[in-house]
Amino acid sequence: MFDALAERLEDAWKKLRGQNKISQSNIQDALQEVRRALLEADVNLQVVKTFVAEVEQKALGAEVISGVNPGQQFIKIVYDELVKVMGESNVPLAQADKPPTVILMAGLQGTGKTTATAKLALYLRKQNQTCLMVATDVYRPAAIDQLITLGQQIDVPVFEMGSDADPVEIARAGVEKAKEMGVDTVLIDTAGRLQIDRDMMAELARIKATVNPHDTLLVVDAMTGQEAANLTRTFQEQIGITGAILTKLDGDTRGGAALSVRQVSGQPIKFVGVGEKVEALQPFYPDRMASRILN
Ligand code: GDP
Repeated sequence: MFDALAERLEDAWKKLRGQNKISQSNIQDALQEVRRALLEADVNLQVVKTFVAEVEQKALGAEVISGVNPGQQFIKIVYDELVKVMGESNVPLAQADKPPTVILMAGLQGTGKTTATAKLALYLRKQNQTCLMVATDVYRPAAIDQLITLGQQIDVPVFEMGSDADPVEIARAGVEKAKEMGVDTVLIDTAGRLQIDRDMMAELARIKATVNPHDTLLVVDAMTGQEAANLTRTFQEQIGITGAILTKLDGDTRGGAALSVRQVSGQPIKFVGVGEKVEALQPFYPDRMASRILN
């Protein structure tokens, strides 16, 4: 496992050979390689710094276990720390004591938010839950149609009020409708912009205050790499998120955004998107992601 990292750490290990403790002086090259590997995996620079400092703390003074290759031992420290930072285990969706559970979807345009809304609805439907999706993106009329089409595809109803209504009002009425229908979960798709935009954030904050979601999920495109950290910070500060969905992991990214999102927000990544199809959603597993980032 982690052949690529092991290979690049080979030179660094030479310094450890014949030593029985990992020390500040013999570990610097190895830490440097970890730093490089994480940056190549698109982890945000600031997040890398914090993470590497943590690994250094953990590794320092560790006894080199006889019979164990110190390289493997060090990689295990890095791997364990990665898993720990990303949350150890999968965190499921929030569930309301009294249905419907309200899930608010947030994120920039093009990240896969509307697709993720339908993916989640299908995921829940397969678990015998009933859902309603709510279309509040009145700025891109195509977004409402997109959600309606997806709803037909997965057999989940969509609540919409056209593109002239106020998004906050649509969200409120959508939750009311979900109560009336007696569904288990209502998923609210919201408008995104290409970049963080003050009006968008203000509207999202108003929707959140109105519907009081049990889960506020930030949809993050894994391909955005470094930027994922800044995006997450802004949404966490201005809206407050309770989790994230990392999309487009079927691309060639190593998935470093996962570490950034988790470390910056302190909130779990709950699902990953692995394709354009509505079925292409998987629960997030920190150990699998750690392997992907390090490989
Ligand atoms: P929104 O603007 O955030 O609502 O984004 P959309 O849901 O419309 O998705 C934008 C584009 O990304 C569409 O072409 C989707 O098919 C695509 N997309 C969404 N999720 C994924 C994913 O996990 N993998 C891939 N490859 N494409 C995705």
